[in-house]
Amino acid sequence: MATNHKLKIVPLGGLGEVGKNMLAIEYGRNVLIIDAGVMFPEQDMLGIDLVIPDYSQYLKDKKDWVRGIVVTHGHEDHIGALPYLLAEINAPVYATRLTIGLIEVKLQKNRLASRANLNIVAAGDRLSLGGMFEVEFFHVCHSIPDSVGLAIRTPVGLMVHTGDFKFDHTPTWGAPPDFGALARFGAEGVLVLLSDSTNADNPGFTSSEKTVDEGLNKVFREAKGRIILATFGSLISRVQQVINAAARHNRVVAVEGRSLEESVERAQALGYLDVPPGVLVDLTKLKGRPDHQVVIIATGSQGEPSAALGRMANGKHRHITIKAGDTVVMSSRVIPGNDRLVARAVNKLFKRGARVISGKADNVHVSGHASQEELKLLLSLVRPKYFVPVHGELRHLHAHAELARGQGIPAQNIFVVENGAVVEFDESSARVADRVPGGWVFVDGSSVGDIGPIVLRDREILSQDGFVLAVVRLDQKTGRLVGRPQIITRGFVFVKENLDLIERSEEEVIAALRMNGQQDPQITIRKALSELLYSETQRQPMVIPVVIGA
Ligand SMILES: [Zn+2]
Ligand SMILES: [Zn+2]
Repeated sequence: MATNHKLKIVPLGGLGEVGKNMLAIEYGRNVLIIDAGVMFPEQDMLGIDLVIPDYSQYLKDKKDWVRGIVVTHGHEDHIGALPYLLAEINAPVYATRLTIGLIEVKLQKNRLASRANLNIVAAGDRLSLGGMFEVEFFHVCHSIPDSVGLAIRTPVGLMVHTGDFKFDHTPTWGAPPDFGALARFGAEGVLVLLSDSTNADNPGFTSSEKTVDEGLNKVFREAKGRIILATFGSLISRVQQVINAAARHNRVVAVEGRSLEESVERAQALGYLDVPPGVLVDLTKLKGRPDHQVVIIATGSQGEPSAALGRMANGKHRHITIKAGDTVVMSSRVIPGNDRLVARAVNKLFKRGARVISGKADNVHVSGHASQEELKLLLSLVRPKYFVPVHGELRHLHAHAELARGQGIPAQNIFVVENGAVVEFDESSARVADRVPGGWVFVDGSSVGDIGPIVLRDREILSQDGFVLAVVRLDQKTGRLVGRPQIITRGFVFVKENLDLIERSEEEVIAALRMNGQQDPQITIRKALSELLYSETQRQPMVIPVVIGA
């Protein structure tokens, strides 16, 4: 086999940020894609629904090279971009049974399910892709069942990718981590390790999922009324724990929120949720049941006003009205940037009389990601020659690199890189080679990638100072103003109390048009009005001239 090609690691998402994980590896004319996730928009990305990796340019002339897409687990930040990716390339997808099930749910919404090539694998399986990559899937523990890491044998050497993981000795689902496989890779000799950095700045060990059982038990013992628990749709292990606690305390469980209902239904159908008969009920069947027998698992753990919990907090939910005696449990991580939204929702829930329990302090949530001691253990089992921290903001990647140096990996063998920086390997050396685009692609409604920084900038201006529309009629022959300009505003000032300013704006437009008769009326109006409004109000609304020929 010719080995004169280099092995390239191409991070397309998830390096330098939390979310939208996606990575390609390339050898000759062979590309293997690992995960294709989404990121939820940050607060300054106004109106954006989702953010996906910017893979289009990298893949543009490589569409026929893609031998497969391997997916480590079913979380949104690993599968969410697949509907968009599969609309562009036609490559087989390989993942474990639950992950494939959750991918199918996504693809059905985009009507791609029938033509996608989905293949189920299991931990321990090996498959050869394109003759150049042999992928071995190994079992890891995370907050969703059926998570795997990848050992990929390439002509240049063995690469190990952990996916998301933690070393949980008492997981909610499945066996403890496969330490045997990790040690075996170490003995075989690992060229490069890519490892989850999400919690690399967290000392010690991440608690086991088991501790959440204790936290939930306490909540269930103390709650006198209904229990409403907010979590992510894809935290299937947490849903299992709530079902177990409910069964122990003679409560029934209803699931509310579309993403949650879909993933719970799919996980149950595939046998990944163990539900005692009668415990899971429809929300509409709760009527008449005493409060102390009810649990509702709801979406909205990030404080999103449109999700189930957000609607309850705002008193806008069709079936559930929050009242004194309710216990609300926030059982998930707060994604950085969502803190304010969550705080607002929690305040509103308290105001309506609920008791709200959240986070680590009450043991109602533990992270699904390894902390420092686990990351060190992984490094000493796998003993890689080179190390690339993945999945995390730059501060997490650097903290992880620090740990690796402490474990004896030379600094020049550690690559802290962000999206788009290609790391290239041959048998004896490694370096950061070229750059590929690694930015953001915004999804807004049905539009993918049409919304860029300019549109977002406009939205920002509109959100801060609103807009002022100046409608003028100009004589087509003479270019002279016909009648008076009309000023319309939204989100800028309250017109009824600012009639004076509106009138002065009209006069300003008339004067400006008279003085600058030769210039483009659009530019004239925009400039004159912007200046007047700023000097009068110290605000900068978006000024939109509308010129009609008369
Ligand atoms: Zn995950
Ligand atoms: Zn993840």
